[in-house]
Amino acid sequence: MRISESDGLFIRDYVKTLKSEKLEKIVKIQDEMLALIREFLRKKGFVELLPVIISPLTDPLNHDVYSATFEAYGTRYSLTQSMIFHKQLALFNQEKIFIVSPNVRLEPEERAPLRRYLIEFVQVDLEMRDATREDVMELIEELLVYVISNVKEKFKDILSEMNPSLKVPKRPFEKVKYLDGLEKYGKDFERILSEKAENPFWLIDIPIEAREFYDKLSDDGRTLLDMDLIYPFGFGEALSGGEREYEYERILKRLEFKKNDPEDFKWYLEIAKEFGLPRSAGCGFGVERLTRYVCGLEHIREARLFAKVPGEFGL
Ligand code: ASP
Ligand code: MG
Repeated sequence: MRISESDGLFIRDYVKTLKSEKLEKIVKIQDEMLALIREFLRKKGFVELLPVIISPLTDPLNHDVYSATFEAYGTRYSLTQSMIFHKQLALFNQEKIFIVSPNVRLEPEERAPLRRYLIEFVQVDLEMRDATREDVMELIEELLVYVISNVKEKFKDILSEMNPSLKVPKRPFEKVKYLDGLEKYGKDFERILSEKAENPFWLIDIPIEAREFYDKLSDDGRTLLDMDLIYPFGFGEALSGGEREYEYERILKRLEFKKNDPEDFKWYLEIAKEFGLPRSAGCGFGVERLTRYVCGLEHIREARLFAKVPGEFGL
């Protein structure tokens, strides 16, 4: 725990932030966007599920984070890094689902300067039975247009001052193939393209090494049927998603390729083997990142109350 100067000063600053007029407005805008997202998804036939906060099964992620696990009653539980596997299993029960899902990802301190990582954040995580990647992209484009046009109208005065360059996104969003971006702009292509863009765009066909085992491999054997959504004006990644592997043998191969330990996914694998998983596609987008983009905020710490930045102390 690293609190700078004395605890008294920390508390004074903390309360000053809580009382700030700007943060009060941001939280109201966020509240409105959550209501709009729920309204939109329910109209499309989605059912909201309650979040899972602890489970022996969670997203392995494609990058290293510190472990957030504990033992209870003889089982090792993890704090939810994403509900990806629960989403697939929930489709045994409902056809289209979403969760306003709190996730804990203990990102290394080096990520803090990117200004878009919190170690505790909320994502709207959704999944649809028998859907394709295209279905998900269409849904999200429509959702973003709906949310941004409505919030822009309702908070006209505040947003025209807070983020005068905010525009309602134009559909269809451009689709950029990951390998084309890499070839044209090099390793940092995502940042460069985000800084150049004025409309959100899709990054598609992400190579197999660069993502988790659960996104579906395309017939080319090298890229996935998945996508990220990237915000313009340098705001960077908004969302990840894709079609999913649902066949036991294919999942085993992908685990092996990623060198993930099958023991960590024991229950998931047993269910897949015995019953088969529903075929599906889905995605998850961060609520704080959407807030940061819509409000035009310098740092994601401004995009919620009680923000916790990697490496910093937070309440
Ligand atoms: N939930 C995944 C994530 O957090 C996104 C997805 O649905 O693929 O990255
Ligand atoms: Mg991602």
